[in-house]
Amino acid sequence: MLPKYSFIIPIYNEEDTIEEMYRRVSIVMNRMDGPVELCLVNDGSSDRSLQMMRELHQKDPRVIYLSLARNFGHQIAVTAGLNFVRGQVVVILDADLQDPPELIPDMVEKWRQGYQIVYAQRIQRRQEGWFKRFTAYAFYRILKNLADVDIPTDTGDFCLLDRKVVDVLNAMSERNRYIRGLRAWVGFNQIAIKFERDPRFAGDVKYTFRKSLALAINGLVSFSKVPLRLSTYMGFLAALVSLFMCMLVLYWRLFVPHSPLTGMAIILIAIFFLGAVQLFSIGILGEYIGRIYEEVKQRPLYTLAEVAGFYEEQGDTQKPISVVKEK
Ligand code: UDP
Ligand code: MG
Repeated sequence: MLPKYSFIIPIYNEEDTIEEMYRRVSIVMNRMDGPVELCLVNDGSSDRSLQMMRELHQKDPRVIYLSLARNFGHQIAVTAGLNFVRGQVVVILDADLQDPPELIPDMVEKWRQGYQIVYAQRIQRRQEGWFKRFTAYAFYRILKNLADVDIPTDTGDFCLLDRKVVDVLNAMSERNRYIRGLRAWVGFNQIAIKFERDPRFAGDVKYTFRKSLALAINGLVSFSKVPLRLSTYMGFLAALVSLFMCMLVLYWRLFVPHSPLTGMAIILIAIFFLGAVQLFSIGILGEYIGRIYEEVKQRPLYTLAEVAGFYEEQGDTQKPISVVKEK
């Protein structure tokens, strides 16, 4: 029987949280009104995570898993899950229990009321450092102002998606996947559910500063062309400044006997300033061109090393495949 609900959980070195995560998620699974599959996606963990996933699958056949051949990153891991799950209703949540699974029944209730996308919106982040809180706060607001689509603030990937939405997401071929943006782009009836973000249950944050920054840049560049325009604006600004400087120099030469414009300093400053503006602009261009390059290469989004629970009908539960085509 095909599952009605699919839960997707990306896992990257989460050996300390998996047990507790399964315990809490399975309580929710038991309470659902239809068959549930719990799709764990191993994103190239180097600890015991994969082994633990295998054991869970043995113990509870509702637990199925995909194992990516290396660490492809959270967004790609979730994408792999979306490609494979079969439920009518799909829920994406983190392994570290920062997204409380107990919220799922409320999300399903909204789905019943006719919403195809129910996303969880944080009203508070408990026990996360001021730096993370501040950067996240600022980023979501900048993104909201610049993005072509209305990407709600303070939402992560914790959400419920109707099958219709999942099919649209799967049909999108883009490589740089910023799932919360794509989700907003899809449309349909969307609604937020507010929640307080708990601290991580155990283990370290897997989103290092570098990964978070990459995700943020990806979100901006994938959903806004404003940064490209920024170099035009800066060009204008630089032109205005230099015009003003010309007039200033002229005025000093003509009317001020001992003009303050002596020495190299002013020239150096101007050179460095313009150099910075140009490099910055080239950098922005590079972000976009790099993405075009990624897209035209048309590589598969990920490679799979192991799959379990999806192919039971054909009897090959652990067939390693390198390119994902059909389910
Ligand atoms: N994760 C992943 N691949 C990565 C980094 C993280 O699959 O390269 C998973 C991780 O196991 C967790 C989720 O993504 O389930 C969120 O990661 P984390 O809690 O470290 O980041 P946060 O969103 O809390 O900053
Ligand atoms: Mg977390």
